[in-house]
Amino acid sequence: MNDAYDVLVIGAATAGSYFGKLMAEQGMKVLIVDRLSSETLGRRLDIFHLDKEVLPVFGVPEPRPGDDDYVTEFQSGLTLSPESNYPKTTQYPFIVSHMPLYIKRLNRWAESFGAEISCDTEFADFVYDGNGKIAGALLQKNGKPLTVAAKLVVDASGIASAARSRLKDGYGVENFQVADHEKFYVVLRYVKLKNPERDRVTRPCGWPAYKAWIAPQHDPDGAIIGIGQSHSFAHAEQAFQEFISRVRLPDYDVLYKEQGTTPFRRPPYSFVADGFLVIGDSACMTKSFSGEGVTSAWTLCKIAAETIAPIIKSGAPATRRAMWRVNTEYMRGQGAKLAHIMGWIGGAVNCTLSEQEFMFKHDIVFSDKALTDTNRHFEAKMTVSEMLGWAFKMLGGVCSGQFRFSTVLSMLRSVFRAGNIKRHYQRYPGNEEAFDAWRQKADLLWSRVDGVLRED
Ligand SMILES: Cc1cc2nc3c(=O)[nH]c(=O)nc-3n(C[C@H](O)[C@H](O)[C@H](O)COP(=O)(O)OP(=O)(O)OC[C@H]3O[C@@H](n4cnc5c(N)ncnc54)[C@H](O)[C@@H]3O)c2cc1C
Repeated sequence: MNDAYDVLVIGAATAGSYFGKLMAEQGMKVLIVDRLSSETLGRRLDIFHLDKEVLPVFGVPEPRPGDDDYVTEFQSGLTLSPESNYPKTTQYPFIVSHMPLYIKRLNRWAESFGAEISCDTEFADFVYDGNGKIAGALLQKNGKPLTVAAKLVVDASGIASAARSRLKDGYGVENFQVADHEKFYVVLRYVKLKNPERDRVTRPCGWPAYKAWIAPQHDPDGAIIGIGQSHSFAHAEQAFQEFISRVRLPDYDVLYKEQGTTPFRRPPYSFVADGFLVIGDSACMTKSFSGEGVTSAWTLCKIAAETIAPIIKSGAPATRRAMWRVNTEYMRGQGAKLAHIMGWIGGAVNCTLSEQEFMFKHDIVFSDKALTDTNRHFEAKMTVSEMLGWAFKMLGGVCSGQFRFSTVLSMLRSVFRAGNIKRHYQRYPGNEEAFDAWRQKADLLWSRVDGVLRED
């Protein structure tokens, strides 16, 4: 390991490996470190889903039948009402893959472009130059301190936000820790089906009312039953009991459980500071409608690599000002769409089970098209007449006593407020000068959003 790099990436999982590869490919001298050993890297999850359609966009390796990381794939998924009625079909293909093996593949891929990977190497703190700017990091390799100089330090350490949360106040990127109430607690049960011939699970099926789903896994006679909830894992377990008391699942035996958390909060308003970039779960980049975060993080990685590599190649310092385009490109595009969903989703799911049943029945929010669009484009592409159609159907539900007027108002309010947030993000400033005013208004808009995950 050399001690002077163009780019030092903290975290060698999906975000860090991808960004490291992109920078190494452009001739940067890249070091990617991870506190875990190469045997344990990525082991926090086994099975995960990769959106198949976007893999060519990012140019990442695609697991294929016969590869050790390939499990299976499906073209569509089902979404059901609280009482398992009115199935909606999401036409969006996913590849099912083994996370640790896929990360190994991404590591090898990054190395083939010249990136160095050092496991058992933990970020401890930043190193600053005489002007107080980040100039590298202090690491612990196998318990021994090691100082690495780098023009850019990248936090890809996941929800732990190991580097970002150590930034000095006011350094240019918010240094919040993802609080417990801003996490989504996910519990996965790997099960063996008792009647696999009859009940085989070949594509996922979800119940948004319980934030629960069943999906295929590596054993064709098995499945994964998942639930994600706010508050705590204990709350997720309670919600699971409610789910299985209301929904008839195939008979199964639980083989083992996995659990983990995903961030559910808005990303920092800036991803860049002098000598610093944050990507992936550390930047809270997960999709708020599914909790998936691998490919949504790659969007920022791609924009950042395209912006920052030329700066470093030119010999100029990677300042916040020079890298500002990373913020503008991301926030005005994917950032605005994901902020929009996060803005309205609380209002849409804060209704009773019978109201949600009504929404499924009448294709309000939960329709084949809206769900497919949301997965593919991160937005439901609605015409004005479709929106009005939803409003009229809900008012019809109010007249027939199936829908509360307060729920209609709450939904309209959250759609309106989310629209304001989206437009504000689409006007993300093109330079640092206008940022403070933009941020103040963004804070105000977010303060009006209904939470789907509450502190109480
Ligand atoms: C149960 C569950 C199921 C999920 N399923 C899916 C799915 O199907 N599809 C999907 O797209 N997303 C899924 N997600 C979300 C997805 O796992 C994350 O969005 C994604 O893995 C984040 O990638 P990352 O590289 O940002 O961070 P991580 O994968 O968390 O990697 C961070 C790395 O940084 C290292 N690190 C941490 N601190 C330090 C330090 N101080 N020094 C050095 N290294 C450090 C860690 O060891 C780790 O290897 C799921 C999440 C959960 C919890």
